[in-house]
Amino acid sequence: MWTAIAQHISAKTGTAFAIQDRRSVGGGCINQAYQITDGDRRFFLKLNQASQVAMFEAEALGLQDMYDSQTIRVPKPICWGTADGSAYIVMEWLDLSRGGSGAWDRMGTALAAMHQVTSEQGFGWRQNNTIGDTPQPNPWTDSWLDFYREHRLRHQFRLAGRRGGHFPRQHELLMALPDLLAGHDPAPALVHGDLWSGNAAVTQDGEPVILDPATYFGDREVDLAMTELFGRFPSDFYQAYNAAYPLDSGYATRKTLYNLYHIINHFNLFGGSYESQANRMIDQLLR
Ligand code: ADP
Repeated sequence: MWTAIAQHISAKTGTAFAIQDRRSVGGGCINQAYQITDGDRRFFLKLNQASQVAMFEAEALGLQDMYDSQTIRVPKPICWGTADGSAYIVMEWLDLSRGGSGAWDRMGTALAAMHQVTSEQGFGWRQNNTIGDTPQPNPWTDSWLDFYREHRLRHQFRLAGRRGGHFPRQHELLMALPDLLAGHDPAPALVHGDLWSGNAAVTQDGEPVILDPATYFGDREVDLAMTELFGRFPSDFYQAYNAAYPLDSGYATRKTLYNLYHIINHFNLFGGSYESQANRMIDQLLR
C-alpha cells in the first residue's frame, strides 16, 4: 500500500517520491492520519477502508474548488485512490499552530472572499459528498428553499427516522420554511460546509487555513452559523467578515435553522441528547 501511494504521489507531482518516514497524526474524527516524508517533501495522508474512497474523492474535489478560488488557504489536494483494501487521500502538509494574533480577522476576510465565488448552476455541487460520514446529497437546484428543505433537512430527518429518532414537529417545520426564509434570496456561494472550530487552523506563518470540508454551493450563512454552533470563533473573525461582506438581516433566526441540520446529523452520527436539542431548536423556530 505505502509503495502504491508513493508511486501515485510521484506520478501526480512529477517528482519521484519514496516514503522514508511516516508518523501518525492525532485529532481526526473519522480517519487515520499520517505525515509521510521522503526526508525532503512532506505530505498529509488519511486512510480509511476502501469502501470510503468516494468520501476522499469528494474531499479532494472540494479542497480543489476552494484552492482554485485563491481566496482562503486550504491544503492543496494531491491524489486519492485505493490500495490493498484501504482508501487514501494525500494533500499538502501544513505546519499548523494554535491561534495566532491577526489570523482571525484575516480568516473572516478570506472566508468572505470565498463566499463571493458563485455558481451558474444554482445550489448543489458537481457530486454528492459526506458530512461527518453521513451522505450529503448535492443535486443542482435552482431554489435555495427547495434545496435546503429537500436535500438538507428532509434528508437528515429521513435518516434520523430510520435510527428511531422522534421529531414530532418535523413536518410543521418543513411547511414553515417558506415563512422562515421569506424575503431571503441568497446567491449560491462556495461554502466549506462543516466549519466548526476543529476545521479552522492557522499555519505557523500566521496564515488562516480551513480543513476537512463538506463543500457545496449554498447560502453563505450556513458557514457563519456553524462557526457559532460549538463555541464561537473570536469576535475579530465576525467583524472582519461583516466589514468585507455584510450579513443580511434575519441571520439570527436562520442561524438556528441552518444549525439544525448539523444537530440532526449529530443525532444520526452519535445519537443521545442531540434528539432533544433538535426538538428544542424546532420549537424555537416555530414559536
Ligand atoms: P478527519 O477527516 O479524520 O476528521 P482531519 O482532516 O480533521 O481528519 O485531520 C485531523 C487533524 O490533522 C486535524 O485536526 C489537523 O490538526 C491535522 N491536519 C489536517 N490536515 C492537515 C494538513 N494538510 N497538514 C497537517 N496537518 C493536518
